[in-house]
Amino acid sequence: MPETRETFELLKNYVDQLPIGLVLFDSKKSIISWNKYAINILEIKEEDFKKNDLGLLKSQISEVLSSDKSFDKELIGLSKPLKARKVLAEDKNIILIISEAHQEAIGEMSHELRRPITNIKTLTESLLLGAKNDPETARKFLEQVNNEVDRLTRLINELINLSKIRSGKLSQEKKKISLKLKVDEAIKLLQGIADKNKIKIVNEVPEQYQIFADSEQIDHVIQNLIENALKYSPEGSIVNIKPGPVPGSFQVDDTGIGISDSEVPKIFDRFYRVDRTRAKGSSGLGLSIVKNVVDLHGGRIEVKSKQGNGSSFIIYLPID
Ligand code: ADP
Repeated sequence: MPETRETFELLKNYVDQLPIGLVLFDSKKSIISWNKYAINILEIKEEDFKKNDLGLLKSQISEVLSSDKSFDKELIGLSKPLKARKVLAEDKNIILIISEAHQEAIGEMSHELRRPITNIKTLTESLLLGAKNDPETARKFLEQVNNEVDRLTRLINELINLSKIRSGKLSQEKKKISLKLKVDEAIKLLQGIADKNKIKIVNEVPEQYQIFADSEQIDHVIQNLIENALKYSPEGSIVNIKPGPVPGSFQVDDTGIGISDSEVPKIFDRFYRVDRTRAKGSSGLGLSIVKNVVDLHGGRIEVKSKQGNGSSFIIYLPID
């Protein structure tokens, strides 16, 4: 039986024509072969493949290779969204398949954008057909139109943000930052929502505590996590922000509705919402952006949550 490597080399001409990226690794996760398409779509030079140097993608690809289960990982920092998946060959060689996720993403986005537009159309048509003559109904419908426009705006802003992050167009300038100040700024912005929901936000971060991050991008992470904690917590509860278990980490804790074990791995997917009807006014994009930013920082996120018992989102960032 020829080994995977030999078969791969024998079929190299054919493999090079495939519209899918293939990279072959040995059991020690060193690259042993690849096809042309992989070089193109990964935007890596052939010499770098030879040197086993995957640059920025290194940690993302080793995450795929290290997982026991077959799972898709979105590769970010490239000019187009890609998905990587591990396949284990019989002789313990590993083939990484890289495919373009672009089409799929466009499909999802169009679907999400159509919903508020359909709602606006229905509401305005009803108004024109006569609902406008009853002031109370007219007011209610216009309020709903207003909410749908807000949702659409939020969705579009988040999509722009996400595409900037994923295409690597968002430049990153990491420096030491006072976490307490960042959290205070985020609280200021979100105080209105907190007051409306009667929730208290407590910043427990000590004055001298520092993280190493891009200032603007980390704002997005902090705001998103606090906003979620406010959205998914009951009136009268408290949201706490404090340093995490190791230097450079931090966490946002709430005592809200929590997330079940089976849902936790899915919440970072684009457009995923645990219960579409419950998460009214949400886009399902927030955590996908958070994860992309944390990945770009070379960090990771841990979620500790029990349904009905609150959630903790812990962000681990490298300290330099
Ligand atoms: P959304 O705009 O829907 O909040 P996110 O990507 O931020 O989108 O979150 C995805 C889903 O994860 C949410 O719809 C919600 O079901 C769940 N979720 C996120 N944060 C929390 C939290 N703090 N408590 C409970 N559920 C949460």
